[in-house]
Amino acid sequence: MRHLVLALCVALLGAFSCREQPGQAPDPVPEEPAKLPTPPEEPVHDTLETLPALETLPDTAFVRLADYSSEFAYDLRYATENNFMKARVYECPECYTRVRTAKALIAANREFLQQGLRLRFFDCYRPNSVQYLMWEKVPNPQYVANPVKGSIHNRGGAVDLTLETLEGEPLDMGTDFDFFGRRAYHDFTGLPQEVLENRTLLRETLGRHGFLPVRTEWWHYNLGVASRYPVADFRWPCAP
Ligand SMILES: [Zn+2]
Repeated sequence: MRHLVLALCVALLGAFSCREQPGQAPDPVPEEPAKLPTPPEEPVHDTLETLPALETLPDTAFVRLADYSSEFAYDLRYATENNFMKARVYECPECYTRVRTAKALIAANREFLQQGLRLRFFDCYRPNSVQYLMWEKVPNPQYVANPVKGSIHNRGGAVDLTLETLEGEPLDMGTDFDFFGRRAYHDFTGLPQEVLENRTLLRETLGRHGFLPVRTEWWHYNLGVASRYPVADFRWPCAP
C-alpha cells in the first residue's frame, strides 16, 4: 500500500494572507481576481516503512489523515454524486489536511473514542479549483467561501464532519451534511434535545482542540490558526 506525504515549502507560508471571516459577508470581489500563489506542495511518495512520524513534519505539511490514524470514519461526499452539486468533483475519496490540523483531529478523536464515538468526515482539504466549481453552483458566501480569496478548506485547515458510534451509526445532528438552511445553524434551537446535545458535544470537544465553528453549518470547523496558511490546489493521487 502506497502512502504519501505532501511536503510543503514553508517559505511561502504567510505569503498569502487570509481575510476570510467565516459566517460574515466577504469583502467585495476585486475586478481582477487576486493572483493565487503557485501551489507550494510537491508530493513525496513514501512506503509505510519510511512514512515520517507526524511529530517530525512541519505543521504546514500536507498529510493523508488515514496514514496517521485508523480510528476515523469517512463519508467523503464530493467523491460521490450525493452532494449539493449532484456531481462527483473528486476523482477518489481521500482526506488530506495540514499536519497541525491532523494532530488536533487525532487528539479530539481520542476524546470521542473514550465515549464510544468517532469522527466521520464529509470533506477535508479541498483544491481551490474545486472551490470555483462550488461557487458557480452556490455563489452565496454564507454557504460557500469565495474562491478568489479561498476557503479554509483550500488551506488544509477546515473539515466537515459529524460523529458516529463505533458500530458506524451516525449521531442525529438534525440535518444532513450541506443542508443550506436555518435548521443547520448553531443558533437554531427548534430541534430535539438529543440533537442539540450532539451538536454541543461536537462543538465543545473540537473547541478544546483549537477548532472554531461557523454559524450556519453545524458540520464545518476551522482550525483557528489555519486562516494564515496559503491556499493550495494540488490534487491527491488515486490508486490505479
Ligand atoms: Zn466546510
